[in-house]
Parts: sequence; structure tokens; C-alpha cells
Amino acid sequence: MTDTTWHDRARNLNIDGRAFIDGQRTWSRSGQQFDNLSPIDGRNLGPVARCGADDVELAVANARAAFEDGRWANLAPAKRKRVLVKFADLMQRHRDELALLETLDMGKPIKYSLSVDLGGAANCIRWYGEAIDKVYGEIAPAPSDSLALITREPVGVVAAIVPWNYPMLMASWKIAPALAAGNSVVLKPSEKSPLTALRLAELALEAGIPPGVFNVLPGFGNEAGSALALHMDVDCIAFTGSTRVGKQILQMAGQSNLKRAWTELGGKSANIVCADCPDLDAAVAASIGSIFFNQGESCNAPSRLFVEESIRERFIEKALALVPDFTPGDPLDENTVMGAIVDDIQLGTIMKYIGEGKAAGARLLAGGERMRLESGGYYVAPTIFDNVHADMSIAREEIFGPVLSVLGFTSLDDAVKQANATQYGLHAAVWTSDLSKAIRTSRALRAGTVHVNQYDNDDITVPFGGYKQSGNGRDKSLHAFDKYTELKTTWIQVARA
Ligand code: NAD
Repeated sequence: MTDTTWHDRARNLNIDGRAFIDGQRTWSRSGQQFDNLSPIDGRNLGPVARCGADDVELAVANARAAFEDGRWANLAPAKRKRVLVKFADLMQRHRDELALLETLDMGKPIKYSLSVDLGGAANCIRWYGEAIDKVYGEIAPAPSDSLALITREPVGVVAAIVPWNYPMLMASWKIAPALAAGNSVVLKPSEKSPLTALRLAELALEAGIPPGVFNVLPGFGNEAGSALALHMDVDCIAFTGSTRVGKQILQMAGQSNLKRAWTELGGKSANIVCADCPDLDAAVAASIGSIFFNQGESCNAPSRLFVEESIRERFIEKALALVPDFTPGDPLDENTVMGAIVDDIQLGTIMKYIGEGKAAGARLLAGGERMRLESGGYYVAPTIFDNVHADMSIAREEIFGPVLSVLGFTSLDDAVKQANATQYGLHAAVWTSDLSKAIRTSRALRAGTVHVNQYDNDDITVPFGGYKQSGNGRDKSLHAFDKYTELKTTWIQVARA
């Protein structure tokens, strides 16, 4: 498809910002709406329902009724599988539309909306659909006069609150295992990127997920979001977002009905490149590609780069040679690899950190400025700071933008200590040819995922989540079913013959 076609399609796209409750599109009870500006060019994509506590009440009541009457939960797993697989097929059938909505709403390049976001989300729905009829219960080694069955049951009504950086993918990581396990779901997408979640709900209904089972409420965190976290009839809240809000979610779960609360939060991931790394070019390409991917708006972005002093200069030279490849471009152009920052607030945050890095004396090697101002959108040049010290804000805080902080090291133990000296623990990496060193370092790194001699591998089969203040939950893999199911033990007395 040519670039012009994506622009033409964007102009002709039907955009519906109404909520989705009990199988129907609806404006909010209060009638309130908010404008949805595209970060690509500042264009207003149209009104979106501003859902609040009343809408949460309605959606949760419908989700509860759907759960209690068993219209979804009591279907045989193989039947739920068929519906979810059809849902994934429909997503693929509407791939251009969904990818376009994602790019317009959030600013990422269309080629990644198609491959990573749409492709990853549809694969996730399909994978959990296909997995659910392969999950067996257990029989405990109970005394011989009894039988103890251990089974999994859906937890009930699940509220999912997700961020804007991978809107469809983050939603799918929650709804796929939750729906496959038989729960009802109320999803609140980010106010910055609500459109694809709403369209997914329509496709889910078309696939056969009964009304009431999957509801979507667009709106703001301190309105619809907190009403969900505080609701007494929500059994589980699955949250992905910032550590700051994650702490509030846990508090709200605790002060209401002690709903199960799962958090997937921020990161400041460390990437340690040793002088004996097996392939310097590969290390440079993965390090640069991963920090600038998705405009740096990735929770697991390797934003702290520790390079052994003896290769630091060579590493930086090679890295700088790659930077022009990441120059931001028109997100609707299929050749673009770096798109727009999600909104002016996030743009302001990134520019603030760049200013702090400069003021603290870090050496700006690339970028550091806004680009494509004439577009009316929000673009930041890929930025690299060298001579970064551990106490600078650009080394400590999650920037969530295309900003790399380079720190040198001479002792690996010291690098690991610095890597761990953060509130976060999402991802980390080590590059070395020495297998034992790799394993020792991997064991020492306090992170949910450690990469050895690569950074960007990812697969639905592996858990994704963090240590420390990067959260307490794991998305993806069969482990995600733990979040959306209760374990039940059933003791059965066996009478003597
Ligand atoms: P955010 O915490 O501001 O918002 C996330 C969601 O929470 C949004 O839907 C928002 O409306 C809602 N929210 C905000 N305040 C709320 C409140 N008081 N009560 C209930 N809901 C509320 O985060 P963001 O800016 O949307 O996303 C970026 C963050 O997400 C980064 O920190 C990033 O690292 C993190 N993230 C983590 C993962 C992971 O898997 N660990 C994945 C993606 C993003």
C-alpha cells in the first residue's frame, strides 16, 4: 500500500468514540465527552465518551449478570476457544483499519501498528483461546479414603486498566487470558488512545462473545479508572501503567473489597555491554534499536546503557552512525521507523528531562530537540547522552521517550550494583562471550527478564513483568491464568466398599 493510500484511508475512516456496554455502543450517562487529538498532526479525531462512576456502575452490573448466568463462564472451554479464535481472525480481517486507528490515536509508525501491535494482539487472543482447553486440573495425593481435586475457576468480574504506549497489545495481554478463563471484563483504555479497544469490543461481539461479557469504558483515570479500582463488585483489577498510579491501585483495592490486584509498572532497564561481547555490531544495533523503538515509549526500553570503558568509544561511534536511521517521520509513511510522541504532555516531560540532563553536565551526543514542528504534531529527535552519572535524573527516572543515557564501567560487579540501584526491576541485559559470566550476571540482576546477547526477543509463551516497583504481576504465557483464576480444592469422601 502506498503512503497516499494510508492518508486517504485516514480521511475516510469511521471513528466512533462511544463506550461499549452490554454489547452496545453508548455515550456516557452524563453525556460528557472529550476531544481526542492525533499526535501526528494535532487533528481532532472526534469526541470520545467521558465515562465516570455511573458508567462503571452500569458496566460492572452487566458484567456481573453475564458472569452469574454463565452465558460465557459455563461454556465448555473448547467453545470459548472457537469464539476467541474467530475474534483473532476478525482482527486480522480488519487489520488495516485497526492499525490505522492505532497510528492516528497514538502516533506510532503504521508498519509497527500492523506488525507488532495488531499482529501481536491477534496472536495473543488466538494463543489464549487455543490454550484454554489444554489446561487440566490436578488430583492431590490425599489419604486413600478421599479424593482431593484442585481446579481453576474464573475469578468473576475483571477490571483491566491499560496505558497508551501499546494500546491494543496491552489490552490483549489482559483480556485474552481473562476471557479465555471464563471471566467477564470491563476494560478502561487510556484517555490518550481509546479507539482500538472500542473497536475490539465490537469485533469480539461479532465473533460470538455474548453481550455483557466484554465492556469498554473510555475515560480518565481519576474518574472511570478509580471508580473501577474502588468498586465493591469487581473481583480482580489488572493494571498496566506507571508505578505512581500502580501504588494507588493497590491502595484502592485494599480499601474496598480486597479485590485481587495485579500491577505491571514502569522501568529503567539496564543494558550491560562487556568488552568481550560476541558481536559489537549486533550489540550496538539492538541497544539503539530497542531504546528508540516505539519512540522510546516502552516500559522495557534499555534506557541505561553501561559500556565497558575499553570499548566505549568504539561503541558510541557505531551507535551515532545508526542514529539518522531513527529520524522521526510521517507515521503514515510505511518507511517510517520513529513516529510521534503520544501528546503534548508527554512531549513536555521528555523535553524537561533533556533539559535536566544538559543542566547536570551530561554530554549531548545526538538529538535533544523537537522535530517536524510544521506538522502540528509532537516529534523528538533520537537523543543520546554520554558521561551520565548515576545521580542524574536521566539515569534514575523513567523518561518514556527516545533518550539514551550512557554510563561507563570498569568493574562488572560495580555495573551490576549500579544496574540494581533503582526502584525498578523490569528488564536487563548483559552482553559477553563468557557463558559463566553471563549466568552469574543474569542471576545477580534483579529484573523480571534478563537478556543475554540480545535485547528484543519476545514471545507470547514467556512471562512479562517486573521485580520491585515494576509491579507484582506477569502478563503473557500460561502463568497469566494465575491472575484471572481462583484455585479451588474439592474434597470427596470415598466410602469403603
Ligand atoms: P498511567 O499510570 O498514567 O496510566 C495508566 C492507566 O491508568 C490509564 O488508563 C490511566 O487513565 C489510568 N489511571 C490514571 N490514574 C488513575 C487512577 N487514579 N485510578 C485508576 N486509573 C488511573 O501510565 P501511562 O502514562 O498511561 O503509561 C505509561 C506507564 O506504563 C509507564 O510507566 C510504563 O513503564 C508503564 N507500562 C508498563 C508495562 C509493563 O508491562 N510493565 C507495559 C506498558 C507500559
